[in-house]
Amino acid sequence: ATQFGIKAALEQLGISAINEGTSTGTNSFSTGAILESYSPVDGQLIAKVKTTSADDYEKVMQTATEAFQSFRLIPAPKRGEIVRQFGEKLRQNKEALGKLVSYEMGKSLQEGYGEVQEMIDICDFAVGLSRQLHGLTMHSERPNHRMYEQYHSLGVVGIISAFNFPVAVWSWNAALALVCGDVCVWKPSEKTPLCGIACQNILAQVLKENNLPEGISCLINGDFKIGELLTKDTRIPLISATGSTRMGKIVAQTVAARLGKSLLELGGNNAIIVSPDADIKMTIIGAVFGAVGTAGQRCTSTRRLIIHESIYEKVKDALVSAYGQLKIGNPLDEKNHVGPLIDIDAVNNYNKALEKATAQGGKILVNGAVLSGTGYESGCYVQPAIVEADNTFEIVQQETFAPILYLLKYSGTVENAIAIQNNVAQGLSSAIMTNNLREAELFLSVAGSDCGIANVNIGTSGAEIGGAFGGEKETGGGRESGSDAWKVYMRRQTNTINYGSSLPLAQGIKFDL
Ligand code: NAD
Repeated sequence: ATQFGIKAALEQLGISAINEGTSTGTNSFSTGAILESYSPVDGQLIAKVKTTSADDYEKVMQTATEAFQSFRLIPAPKRGEIVRQFGEKLRQNKEALGKLVSYEMGKSLQEGYGEVQEMIDICDFAVGLSRQLHGLTMHSERPNHRMYEQYHSLGVVGIISAFNFPVAVWSWNAALALVCGDVCVWKPSEKTPLCGIACQNILAQVLKENNLPEGISCLINGDFKIGELLTKDTRIPLISATGSTRMGKIVAQTVAARLGKSLLELGGNNAIIVSPDADIKMTIIGAVFGAVGTAGQRCTSTRRLIIHESIYEKVKDALVSAYGQLKIGNPLDEKNHVGPLIDIDAVNNYNKALEKATAQGGKILVNGAVLSGTGYESGCYVQPAIVEADNTFEIVQQETFAPILYLLKYSGTVENAIAIQNNVAQGLSSAIMTNNLREAELFLSVAGSDCGIANVNIGTSGAEIGGAFGGEKETGGGRESGSDAWKVYMRRQTNTINYGSSLPLAQGIKFDL
């Protein structure tokens, strides 16, 4: 850990051997059980976290609801200024936080820095947004009347996040929620609790420097049981939950039972269609990065390649040769392409998926394997695999959170490829590689991809913060980050004002007294 400057990074971020996992800002306290965070990079214990008990949670919620009363009264551009300062602090801490992300989660250092950059970008976006939280004005049908809509702060936003983007996903929610005048209670993944504590420490400094009340940004730590306290809590009008479809189905029902709002960002089963008119070089780069980047643990990772039969062999050979050049090892070492999976459970799921793929009729083109020996002591490093398969295999229909790429063949026109691409339960990210305008436009049309993200000549993996991010079907339907995703963090009010001296009713209804 000392080798790549991890010790110094932890110190800079205020992480000690034992940390309080519950915080209402500068005030940290926890009475729950101890959670240990081990690095998948080297299997070492990084630090311990005291989790949040039910009593601690109650204190957090009281502080958060109280903070909302005053925070909502601060003008939105002034709230934007707080988020601007948070972005500045993230710039100062980019290296340290990026290293922690890489060490605790296992993604490459470049991707760790990229995640922090995404946080900085969403802060910049939110600052601009803080002056643009506007509604429409409409023409009233009644004389001497004015009608318009406005957006008000919503309240406490509960944020539940996944391990694979341990810092960025929170910031997508928090930066927007804060400029909208909401306060946040965040439960990070129990697999990456230190990333949560580090982010909270950075934001808490900003809140303290601005003499803002405790409770604007709160942190709670623990497993799904702590998450359930949030989802069941009628004081929380919006739950934003990122994670597996399994989790999303439970959260959606719990929140709906109390008629709360949920924003769900769930699993994907993303495909790239490779048409006969594809640029093969670009296709290989996009597909390999999409499939093996973050060791296949992105919600937007490329899981299926749908290749036209006329170029199938050519693409297959190029992929197999590219996989032969992949370097697997410590993600903090920039010469490696692929780091570890998050934990041994994930390794077991990878093994089971490969077994099922062969049992269901798949043909292994690049062998999977769990790596052992020097540098692989954590037991979490695996060989990215390629399997020739059919879209109808049960295993191909599922999202396995590991670097397994399925090659599927199509014949005839692009309509056939689109049908295969859409024939899964998930609907997050999709792409077509083609220089044929008609194919590209059809893919983007209403008869094309059914996903929330559809790209042309770009892979499925990764997205910019400027667009609304999310997916359809079992991906949950939520949108966060850019475009008008902010609207879900506010409540809309329609106002009609009569500045005349009579009271005409709508629809010409007569009511004389
Ligand atoms: P997970 O579902 O195991 O856990 C996610 C979070 O939900 C954790 O914080 C967990 O404690 C919490 N949780 C689990 N059950 C809960 C419950 N019943 N009530 C309340 N909270 C509960 O997911 P993971 O393994 O951390 O992450 C991987 C998954 O996340 C993949 O399916 C991936 O596609 C998805 N993901 C989606 C997006 C997206 O934007 N669509 C982004 C990142 C990850």
